[in-house]
Amino acid sequence: MLIGLLQDKKVSIDTEKCMKCALCARVCPMQLSPYTDYDDKCQLKSDDCIRCGACVVNCPTQALSFEENRSFTGEPCPHKKKRKEYKAVLEKVEDLTSDVRQFTFKFIEPPKMSFKPGQFLIIKVLDGPIVFRAYSISSTPDECSSVKLAIKKVSDGLGSPLVYEFKEGMEVILEGPMGEFTLQDDTKDVIFVANGIGITPFVSMTKEALKRNQGRVMLLFGVRNEKDIIYDDYFKALKEEYPDFEYILSLTKPSENWKGEKGRVPVLIEKINLQSYDAYLCGSKPMLKDTKEALIKSGIKSERIFFESFF
Ligand SMILES: Cc1cc2nc3c(=O)[nH]c(=O)nc-3n(C[C@H](O)[C@H](O)[C@H](O)COP(=O)(O)OP(=O)(O)OC[C@H]3O[C@@H](n4cnc5c(N)ncnc54)[C@H](O)[C@@H]3O)c2cc1C
Ligand code: SF4
Ligand code: SF4
Repeated sequence: MLIGLLQDKKVSIDTEKCMKCALCARVCPMQLSPYTDYDDKCQLKSDDCIRCGACVVNCPTQALSFEENRSFTGEPCPHKKKRKEYKAVLEKVEDLTSDVRQFTFKFIEPPKMSFKPGQFLIIKVLDGPIVFRAYSISSTPDECSSVKLAIKKVSDGLGSPLVYEFKEGMEVILEGPMGEFTLQDDTKDVIFVANGIGITPFVSMTKEALKRNQGRVMLLFGVRNEKDIIYDDYFKALKEEYPDFEYILSLTKPSENWKGEKGRVPVLIEKINLQSYDAYLCGSKPMLKDTKEALIKSGIKSERIFFESFF
């Protein structure tokens, strides 16, 4: 078995063998590009590589390999900690919107997974070629015998339409947990900012921050219109339980009946005083870029801004 065994080695490319077919980038669950993003030692530059091996096994010319990292410092891959392969059964599929579905997977072997709010796992979506896709866990760690993943269908995508063909009762391979996008111990006042499907890690992270009770907790969630809102009942229930929790929804194209906030998340940020806050952002790259700029303008130090990009 390839995954899980090679985690302290970097992906290397033999540029002579590469025919630039881009298959390695297509199968990569972390949206990396091993055939273009390499250093002068021909090793993948990005630290986001989870060493799953999908690019290596799928390369038609064997241009990619896991070589000893010649500049290896002795620090193990951060994704290695507690990461395991799990056999699981798809227990339940629910439509959250017209293009977002929630999948509940019950672990078979090992029977439980412990993870931190904000972490993600990968699902094997295809065997030939081997393809994995990464999804943030949207359930809380209390439910350790199963996980919920909310997955948006990207119509022209490779992996998400395949997951949409999964049927209740089928067995799947998951691997995880992975990721460093978790609540820092010294975070006190905190704002979580998401757009679209980027809300998934914040389902459990907001709850964790509220339970910790170390400062103010704010969630700013941007979507296009009312039909794209997910987990609204869940966040409203948290607001009932923790009345100081600030839950703000902002719609860019609301119906005329919408009475809440309107406009893009970064524009809204500029109106809020956030100087004492740590910020956690998740969603699309353009939203992350604009929000980071707005947060820095509002006085938040860049080292107190943590983010996960989905696409
Ligand atoms: C750490 C991490 C956590 C993630 N968590 C989630 C999650 O909880 N839920 C979830 O649905 N996705 C999540 N993603 C994204 C997910 O891994 C896939 O990238 C996504 O499902 C698209 O895969 P695909 O194979 O269908 O599309 P691909 O074949 O990889 O991409 C096809 C095209 O669609 C574009 N695209 C990709 N995703 C989107 C999108 N969401 N909206 C619009 N265009 C897009 C790409 O830029 C590309 O042009 C996460 C990604 C990472 C790295
Ligand atoms: S899959 Fe192999 S041949 Fe194709 S672009 Fe990637 S490294 Fe090059
Ligand atoms: S090993 Fe996996 S995560 Fe790393 S570049 Fe290859 S496909 Fe992407």
